[in-house]
Amino acid sequence: MKNGLATDRRPDHASGDRQRDEVDLAVRSAVAVHGVRVDAPVQRRSGAGPSDDGHVVVAGRGLALPIVPTSPYSVAAGRLLFDGTDLGVAATPVSRPRFYDLATADGVPYSQLARLHSTDVLATTVLQTCVRYREPERCRFCAIEESLRAGATTRLKTPEQLAEVARAAVRLDGVRQMVMTTGSTAGPDRGAGLLAECVRAVVAAVPGLPVQVQCEPPADLSVLAELRAAGASTIGMHIESLDPEVRRRWTPGKATVPLAEYERAWSEAVRVFGWNRVSTYLLIGLGEDPDELVAGARRLIAMGVYPFVVPFRPLAGTLAARDGARAPEPELVSDVTARVAAALTAAGMTGADQGAGCAACGACSALPQAGG
Ligand code: SF4
Repeated sequence: MKNGLATDRRPDHASGDRQRDEVDLAVRSAVAVHGVRVDAPVQRRSGAGPSDDGHVVVAGRGLALPIVPTSPYSVAAGRLLFDGTDLGVAATPVSRPRFYDLATADGVPYSQLARLHSTDVLATTVLQTCVRYREPERCRFCAIEESLRAGATTRLKTPEQLAEVARAAVRLDGVRQMVMTTGSTAGPDRGAGLLAECVRAVVAAVPGLPVQVQCEPPADLSVLAELRAAGASTIGMHIESLDPEVRRRWTPGKATVPLAEYERAWSEAVRVFGWNRVSTYLLIGLGEDPDELVAGARRLIAMGVYPFVVPFRPLAGTLAARDGARAPEPELVSDVTARVAAALTAAGMTGADQGAGCAACGACSALPQAGG
């Protein structure tokens, strides 16, 4: 072993002699799991989404990568290196956006209201608390309330605040899309009504900005049409695993919502938002049989829902990290990602076509490097 990687399992690194315009899937999967050593100005700890990650442009694409000081991968002098050897791929940390230096009139820093993800995505968690955050309901991979506890964000963002930040982020930093997620509320809309108000304000402030909303399937599905009418262009309703046993273990609270309810909500969302305008996260490495995971992804694709496959990682502040859970092997990430990407290609479905949201951004998944 060297640097934590078994030598016989290293990805087959191409020579750095020539410049490549895409990082290959094996290397993409390895950096997703092993992380990189990088001084990244755009990063954060805890919260929803790619927390603990640094945002880096590798071969022209934004990637959200774990920052791991012991990783054999590093970013230095504009290149991606493995054990100091140039892998032939350009890599540069995303620069700190200018909107981070601004604050609202009442003194709330914009950086506490929304964050830059990748190079051009503005992301916010509208409600930073979740009704499912206490054990035994809490999802084991989630750290949504930790950034609130650390004082890095505010509990509830108002529509006016988000409109103000979005306007600045588009003007100063060239943001091209926005992702709005929320912790789940106890109400039947699960927080979707709050999202609708925020979308309305943002789209009024920045007409034409593509916005994705992310929430649990609302009990009252009419709220999906309200979100669309408010101006959301895509929606993510994230189940993380289609395996009932894995759901019970990893998302005990959300697992009380039956798969059939997710399916009902996805179908209605496809009707309202359109084919390939709806997505869900599927996490690789929760213990689900890989063949079943891929078969489930194919069923979602057949429904018009984009399965955003993302490697699980035990983030700081999560129950998974506390309990010593480990990220999957890079080979598993490559295998599942390649098969799901092939199914997406066969269906003519691309993440980029979504225009807004995680599938369009792609920084947390290896799907873009696999053709998905
Ligand atoms: S894929 Fe989603 S969560 Fe990940 S960096 Fe992009 S917008 Fe953020």
